[in-house]
Amino acid sequence: MGNSFDLIAIGAGSGGISVAERAAQYGARCAVVEHSKLGGTCVNVGCVPKKVMWNAASVAHALQDATGYGFDVAVKGLDWETLVEKRERYISGINDWYGTYLKDFNIELLRGKARFAEPHCIEVDGERYSADHIVVATGGFPAVPDVPGAEHGITSDGFFALQTQPRRVAVVGAGYIAVELAGLLNCLGSEVTMLLRRDHFLGSFDVMLREHLMEEMLNSGVNIMPQVNIERVDRSDDGSLTLHCQSGVTLKNFDTLIWAIGRTPATADLNLAAAGVEVRDDGVIPTDEFQNTNVPGIYAVGDITGRAPLTPVAIAAARRLGDRLFNNQPERRLEYENIPTVVFSHPPIGTVGLSEDEARAMHGDAVKVYSTQFTNMYHVLTEHKPQTAMKLVTVGAEERVVGCHIIGLGADEMLQGFAVAIKMGATKTQFDNTVAIHPSSAEELVTMR
Ligand SMILES: Cc1cc2nc3c(=O)[nH]c(=O)nc-3n(C[C@H](O)[C@H](O)[C@H](O)COP(=O)(O)OP(=O)(O)OC[C@H]3O[C@@H](n4cnc5c(N)ncnc54)[C@H](O)[C@@H]3O)c2cc1C
Repeated sequence: MGNSFDLIAIGAGSGGISVAERAAQYGARCAVVEHSKLGGTCVNVGCVPKKVMWNAASVAHALQDATGYGFDVAVKGLDWETLVEKRERYISGINDWYGTYLKDFNIELLRGKARFAEPHCIEVDGERYSADHIVVATGGFPAVPDVPGAEHGITSDGFFALQTQPRRVAVVGAGYIAVELAGLLNCLGSEVTMLLRRDHFLGSFDVMLREHLMEEMLNSGVNIMPQVNIERVDRSDDGSLTLHCQSGVTLKNFDTLIWAIGRTPATADLNLAAAGVEVRDDGVIPTDEFQNTNVPGIYAVGDITGRAPLTPVAIAAARRLGDRLFNNQPERRLEYENIPTVVFSHPPIGTVGLSEDEARAMHGDAVKVYSTQFTNMYHVLTEHKPQTAMKLVTVGAEERVVGCHIIGLGADEMLQGFAVAIKMGATKTQFDNTVAIHPSSAEELVTMR
């Protein structure tokens, strides 16, 4: 009985903790297995430390802008070590809080790596545990390419472990993590080169967003090199890194190389075959719309499912699964459409719904687009004047808003409310009938012509 539960979640990240918490609220006997720090990627090497660094970069911007407002400020530099130490202290507080939180909900924490022994039985540190319901929420880890010398580079995990500020950095990758790390390092004073395999980054985003961001990043000093494939990395005796590219080009004198080329699902150690759980070649566990795997009573939530790898998505899918299994809500599931997301770039991006290209592919001539570009009033007095750009994508005679794309100061905080409106099926007329807030950037979204 001691090793038998109603539900076991494998992984104490966003998904695993959330499903156990929701199930426990309904009286289920739950356990969570974790071999590393509580809170998973988001808390330890993802959203949280990233946002602290982005905030630090925003402070750096504000210090630059201060002279435009008449302040006489002399910035003596950044104490990276202090920043990192304070950030990690904050995170350690969250880790401790999670420990107490699990105890408060009577959720047993099993320490170690879990692997399946049978469909409803797992093994942790030599001990067996069984449950009617097992949820795989093991997330993923950063990928490193298979090229000679790749080990001289670090990943986003390594970035958060840096104790000193890198001075000359190459960031390889084109996803949002690459863009965010390159942007914040540049703002904090590192010399940054971004290496893209293709011509652009953020491939799945609306073209307006990615083109605008690229222009702003180039303007603020990030060196962006398209069409670069690294074949080999060498470290010289003085510690500097040389990148040998397929084109024959050699890039020299980097002190840090960051691989931000994607994430690999953490399924390899789970012995999924013992449970008969289907897994794709890329490590993703396929699920249906209710988070069911192919084996009854075994589910997957979060990054491991290969869908919208974001913390609130993992949490929402997990909580709904808990409602479905333990609160008699058989139809409860997460809708994966219209998920708002922010890229903490400089300037930030907020985006929800269909890009213009996606909308045109789905709805053809029924698509009508509204867009605008302007200088945020904050930048009227500053030397650097990044532009804000916005786009609303509408469909049909009623002009239902199916996409909202914003880049510029405040986009990160602006989007959530508009995402509610879009989720509710708001039309352009309803946007326009909403009284504007003045003076603000957000007012442009309800006054677009
Ligand atoms: C640099 C970076 C920045 C990010 N920024 C954002 C952001 O701003 N906003 C956002 O929404 N998302 C962001 N994300 C994504 C977000 O962190 C993930 O989507 C989220 O953490 C996924 O939660 P999860 O529960 O699926 O997995 P995870 O949080 O990764 O948790 C999985 C847990 O399982 C554990 N585990 C793995 N295998 C086993 C095993 N065999 N036994 C026991 N335990 C195991 C791991 O140690 C880990 O703790 C970011 C990610 C990164 C890397």
